[in-house]
Amino acid sequence: MSLTVCKFGGSSLADGNNITRVTEIVKSDPARRFVVVSAPGKRYSGDIKVTDMLYECYKESKEKGNCSAAFEKIRRRFYSIVEELGMDTFFDIGKILDETEREIESRKSADFTASRGEYLNARVVAAKMGLPFIDAKDIIFFDKNGQFDEARSYPLIAEKLEKCEGAVIPGFYGTDAEGNIKTFSRGGSDISGSIVARAVNADLYENWTDVSGFLACDPRIVEHPQKIEIISFKELRELSYMGANVLHADSIFPVRKGDIPIKIKNTFRPEDAGTLILPSKKYVKHGNIVTGIAGKKDFTVIYLEKSMMNSEIGFARKVLSVLERRGICFEHMPSGIDTLSLVIESKYFADGSLDSLLKELSEAVQPDYIHALENIALVATVGHGMASNIGTSARLFKALSDAGINIRMIDQGSSEINIIVGIDNDDYEKCVRAIYREFFS
Ligand code: ADP
Ligand code: ASP
Ligand code: MG
Repeated sequence: MSLTVCKFGGSSLADGNNITRVTEIVKSDPARRFVVVSAPGKRYSGDIKVTDMLYECYKESKEKGNCSAAFEKIRRRFYSIVEELGMDTFFDIGKILDETEREIESRKSADFTASRGEYLNARVVAAKMGLPFIDAKDIIFFDKNGQFDEARSYPLIAEKLEKCEGAVIPGFYGTDAEGNIKTFSRGGSDISGSIVARAVNADLYENWTDVSGFLACDPRIVEHPQKIEIISFKELRELSYMGANVLHADSIFPVRKGDIPIKIKNTFRPEDAGTLILPSKKYVKHGNIVTGIAGKKDFTVIYLEKSMMNSEIGFARKVLSVLERRGICFEHMPSGIDTLSLVIESKYFADGSLDSLLKELSEAVQPDYIHALENIALVATVGHGMASNIGTSARLFKALSDAGINIRMIDQGSSEINIIVGIDNDDYEKCVRAIYREFFS
């Protein structure tokens, strides 16, 4: 029989009614045996996610030695969920909450505190579904560099889950090399789901959220964008890394290694087909030349120009050594014969260190010209075979020029499925809309 691992996001589990809906979805297909859950998310716009409330608890407990005021909100949220589910007569959430509050205060760890949203929610969902709760701390491990430890985790997950008909597992966290709770970055339950799917060699990884699939661009920028029916892992990686945050950008790696397809499904419209994400070798491009558009704001582009740079041995190494010494990662490095640009997240310069970086770079490589562009947004237009198609680039650049958008940087890079443009932050939404209009209307 086929085996599906399902991950439900915070929006799908925000209150008791939603948890009932999720229970029906799981029970409606016997292949859906292993369920990975997020912490309760927002119930309405302006609501606060449980994970954000937990970071407040950590702050309060650090400042005052206890977190009783902030934890009271967590307490009320879970009491109301358990009440809505009609479980208050047999499920003692009060006891679990008391223990959790005490542990948050005694452990004094941001990661431990943040992880409790998934922990508590998985306890509730497991009780509602009548399935065993399996704690992520016992099956998901990080190595001493803080990276996910495949060799240790996969056999343990497989061994534990093999014995169960079904189980509920909290997402977002595991145990580090010292035995402490450690979380993935925000949105990381998607990664936990992918890890579990790979460990049990699932036939499908279903990721249930609040949209009916991966859309061609952010629905907060373009109203009702087209839904992508099928997309390759490669395209998904490019889009999610560039800000299409339906799925955590790193969640692709475990399932990709196991050739396990992902399906994005809508908890609130389970009848909708969703988006199927396939390993590149199983994917056949059809339909639109452009698959999707995504982007991010707040980059700084450092532009270096030096005649004969291309024949100067060690030029790029010297530039990159300066970044390495300062602990700066760069996103892109488009280059020409005499030019090299570094695209870096502006957060590195929030402390006012940009001028000193420019000075250090000047000393290291003595460029003819060095200059930084700030407040730059990057927009990626993604699709297999697209960047090698001259007509596509021409259409893209014409659409931007017709919309009056000044292109500050182009990176067609080495990825043949992606064209990235750098534009002013203020032009970001306009740029996404212009590209969408050109390729999708
Ligand atoms: P979950 O709580 O299920 O983890 P997320 O909030 O992490 O859900 O992700 C789903 C949200 O991602 C959607 O509600 C939507 O607003 C946003 N989003 C951004 N870009 C896209 C896109 N290209 N396609 C679909 N949704 C997108
Ligand atoms: N609850 C965590 C967050 O809000 C993880 C997740 O939802 O995937 O980031
Ligand atoms: Mg998410």
